[in-house]
Amino acid sequence: ALTIGIVGLPNVGKSTLFNALTRNQVLAANYPFATIEPNVGVVPLPDERLDKLAEIFGSARILPATVSFVDIAGIVRGASEGEGLGNQFLANIREAQAIAQVVRVFDDPDVVHVEGKVDPHSDMETINTELILADLQTIEKALPRVEKEVKIKKREAAELTALEAARKVLERGDTIFSSVDSDKLDLEHLRELSLLTAKPFIFVFNVDDQILASPERQEELRKLVAPADCVFLDAKLEADLVELEPEEAREMLEMNGQEESGLDQLARVGFHTLGLQTYLTAGPKEARAWTINRGDTAPQAAGVIHSDFQRGFIKAEVVSFADLVEAGSMAEAKARGKVRIEGKDYVMSDGDVVEFRFNV
Ligand code: GDP
Repeated sequence: ALTIGIVGLPNVGKSTLFNALTRNQVLAANYPFATIEPNVGVVPLPDERLDKLAEIFGSARILPATVSFVDIAGIVRGASEGEGLGNQFLANIREAQAIAQVVRVFDDPDVVHVEGKVDPHSDMETINTELILADLQTIEKALPRVEKEVKIKKREAAELTALEAARKVLERGDTIFSSVDSDKLDLEHLRELSLLTAKPFIFVFNVDDQILASPERQEELRKLVAPADCVFLDAKLEADLVELEPEEAREMLEMNGQEESGLDQLARVGFHTLGLQTYLTAGPKEARAWTINRGDTAPQAAGVIHSDFQRGFIKAEVVSFADLVEAGSMAEAKARGKVRIEGKDYVMSDGDVVEFRFNV
């Protein structure tokens, strides 16, 4: 499953945020495809298009796409040398496809800061350094084995070259992800090492209500991490919001000058960072969003519903969400010639409303 791992210094609000994510899961538990695990927080991806589809098709229920968050790695300065819980803690997030770094921006004299003062920039450097050092260790451990295997021709020389190039990037203090293009890194050959800094990062700034209301302060922080995506939220507020009824939660958000919850934003940004998109299906039973990769073809998209759909794929009937809404019904969209018949080479677009035809 696609997941995002959460990291950060101690006392920055990771657990508070993760608890909110897992409480939110109680809602997600109504969805048949959400497997419930204690270390996974499943967040539905807000999608107003589904409401509209449910209206058009008279769907009994709505099933949004979801984004999953796993585990929490608390990292302290020196973690890669065995400080705190050391590196073994990172093992849990190796399998994640992206890393969400929670950064403390809120000021609260009652909450001790491990480094003595609130300094987002320095905290991010500490975490980045530890992740880079952890990756360096991984590479240095792998190098002798790969060298040997290249010698006996069990591996291509290019794999060794890839490792050495990656080591150089890490040694100068850069992440793999940010150096892929500039250093022409071959990610394919690095994949088996599950390097942490080869994953895209999302920055979650845990802020107080003042910064939540200040676009200027947010812009300053955004600049620190660009081009990476970031989210501004108040973890404590998020924890409170998930306890409320939807209507009350909306009022509380409004009182804080927010249009959507931080968890919703996080789901959206996570989805984007993971390179995902959705296509839609609808009928009287349900209106549903399905998660695919950007660039997936119609048969690959069908395979997300069922592997038989991919194997027996014949064609897809596709209408864009906008065209369907404008027509007001599937029949009218067809009458207007807006429903296309697409074959196996069709590359899906976000928001395609689809019906697949397949052999069983
Ligand atoms: P973790 O060590 O990163 O998991 O941090 P916790 O989630 O356990 O939070 C540490 C302390 O900071 C707890 O007492 C939280 O209640 C508090 N805390 C977390 N988020 C916020 C926040 O947004 N504002 C304030 N004022 N306190 C927070």
